[in-house]
Amino acid sequence: MKSLTSLNLPSPITQIHNQLLDSKNIKLFIKRDELIHPVIQGNKWRKLKHNLLDAEKKQQDTLLSFGGAYSNHLHALAAAGNQLNLKTIGIIRGEAPKHLNPCLQDMQHWGMQLKFISRLEYKQKTSIEFLNNLKQAFGDFYLIPEGGNNSAGMKGCAELLDELDDKYDVICCEVGSGTMLSSLIQNNKIAETKYLGFAVMKNPQLDNEIKESLIEKSDSTTWEINHHYHFGGFAKTSPELDEFIINFKLKHNIQLEPVYSGKMLWGILDLLKLDYFKPGTRILAIHGGGLQGLRGFPQLYQSLKI
Ligand SMILES: *Cc1c(COP(=O)(O)O)cnc(C)c1O
Repeated sequence: MKSLTSLNLPSPITQIHNQLLDSKNIKLFIKRDELIHPVIQGNKWRKLKHNLLDAEKKQQDTLLSFGGAYSNHLHALAAAGNQLNLKTIGIIRGEAPKHLNPCLQDMQHWGMQLKFISRLEYKQKTSIEFLNNLKQAFGDFYLIPEGGNNSAGMKGCAELLDELDDKYDVICCEVGSGTMLSSLIQNNKIAETKYLGFAVMKNPQLDNEIKESLIEKSDSTTWEINHHYHFGGFAKTSPELDEFIINFKLKHNIQLEPVYSGKMLWGILDLLKLDYFKPGTRILAIHGGGLQGLRGFPQLYQSLKI
């Protein structure tokens, strides 16, 4: 890509030390994808990469995508567009707010054109008619689906596995749409590795959706989605989860956020207490980034003094 500067790749891996891990004889490592870039980081960088390369190959200078008002994806896309001198258009779910939140302000600042549409309209976002209307309004563009969840996104996620030098028994990731998890399962390199996803919202369909997305060769890879740590739904938190995030930062100097990584790490440590993992297990948890989203939780954000 022309000039996305200062990407910290491969992202480092940090081992976590605490008494619980010692007492259960389990090793926990975190793949620090949140450190790839201050903004173009984690899960969303992985998924954007090949979309950006593909747009470049097709000589498209305008990128259009979708997301909510705190979208990590649109935020990263706007920043990348700004660095690469590409026009970006963000179609945002919900009516325009009186005051733009910090995430939307950033996007606008980076030159992204924002268009707010009703939740009802947003549901039409993949229909041909809706996309044709967008082309009428904005001219030609390169379309990136919500979240960067397409085959280019899957390809970028798989590159994470190429960065691993050591073997892990269990690889954990956060699960929203399941694109990351599905890509990891499909591109697994070590037969014994198990993939454990943590659902960050209530979605009983997830397991079936992933099953359907998998191609034959992944039949042999074991995986599971844990649905016990969504804390009531997407972007829902609790005083205990906030406290956990604050303490995790103090103890390990690793910043988590309550939408994704906080829930996953809470889940991993809780499963540890419940003896879900066999002694001797080596766990790798993928930190999906998305730290800008912390600003959507002003109280927690204040306590963290970022
Ligand atoms: C979008 C996002 C996810 C969700 O990933 P899926 O591939 O949709 O399951 C996880 N973590 C972070 C930080 C994200 O921004």
